[in-house]
Amino acid sequence: MTGRGAARRTVQAVADVDIAIGEGETHGLVGESGSGKSTTGRILLRLIEPDAGTVTFRGEDLLALQGVELRQMRRHVQLVYQDPFSSVDPRYRARDIVAEPWTIHGLYDRVERRRRADELLARVGIDPSQGDRRPASFSGGQLQRIGIARALALEPSLIVCDEPVSALDVSVQGQILNLLMDLKRDLGIAYLFIAHDLAVVRHISDRVSVMYAGRIVETGTRDQLFRAASHPYTLALLAATGTDRRASTPETPASATDDPLAGIDSSIGCAFRARCPQAQAVCAVERPELIDRGGDHPVACHFPATVATSASYARVDGDDSQVGEEVDEGHEQTGDDADAHDEGRVQSPQST
Ligand code: SF4
Repeated sequence: MTGRGAARRTVQAVADVDIAIGEGETHGLVGESGSGKSTTGRILLRLIEPDAGTVTFRGEDLLALQGVELRQMRRHVQLVYQDPFSSVDPRYRARDIVAEPWTIHGLYDRVERRRRADELLARVGIDPSQGDRRPASFSGGQLQRIGIARALALEPSLIVCDEPVSALDVSVQGQILNLLMDLKRDLGIAYLFIAHDLAVVRHISDRVSVMYAGRIVETGTRDQLFRAASHPYTLALLAATGTDRRASTPETPASATDDPLAGIDSSIGCAFRARCPQAQAVCAVERPELIDRGGDHPVACHFPATVATSASYARVDGDDSQVGEEVDEGHEQTGDDADAHDEGRVQSPQST
């Protein structure tokens, strides 16, 4: 996809992005601000039209759909926004926010919309007796629950979650992640879960793709990414999450939050080369392709790290993330916590 920048130079926001999401699967899409992950989500929703490429949903080319067919497709693919406050109309009551998709699509009469809205509010943990309240009287976590209820209204099979917890307090993030995981388990929903924080992605994802400068640089299962990451940028992100308990080692790359493309012509070579401790001459002239060297774990790097070398960047075995940690007093961390995701709960006893 391309667009025009302020200096009238062409900026390529995303390129060669290839993501497959299975039924009921959560695919984490992670990268720093400006990496192209939100653009990717919006292309999937057809809120942005790409210049080229294909977007296929259940075998159907989404980019070819128009009119009624496009509206029908949009029932199946919904969005949960980053900022729950700006994503709702402050004049609407909670029940009306949830019922809005039915109003847009002309579904159900007023009584039935109210009944269904109350059902969905209860499903996401909001007492239906609060359905007449307006957004200003809810907390951020409660509003995000209402936003999730709205996304569920049309019974989608895929929800794009665009940084859905990054605007929330740490104590609330775990509760929203738990809600999303419960809905996935009960309703079989698939998620494209966009986040800049690997620790958050780790809790919820089955597969994870890492984006840098508009391209996927590594894709794998959650365990592959967190136990055997190969791309130097993924390793830098892991180190930035604080999961490396040995702090900075001489091999630790530059911060993953530095200006990503400062002084770099990203149209040639590897866009990460100025920050990469493994960079060699070829990296400046030849773009690394996303290559699967085995195990369905593609990496775009001329010199991917092995499991042994990746240990010098970040150690994640036995790690527990920050999500929900502030409200998890008394929960002693053990090596078993690394796989707490498999049981699917983030520890956070308070309600939002
Ligand atoms: S291709 Fe070269 S510069 Fe890019 S990540 Fe790999 S080693 Fe580093």
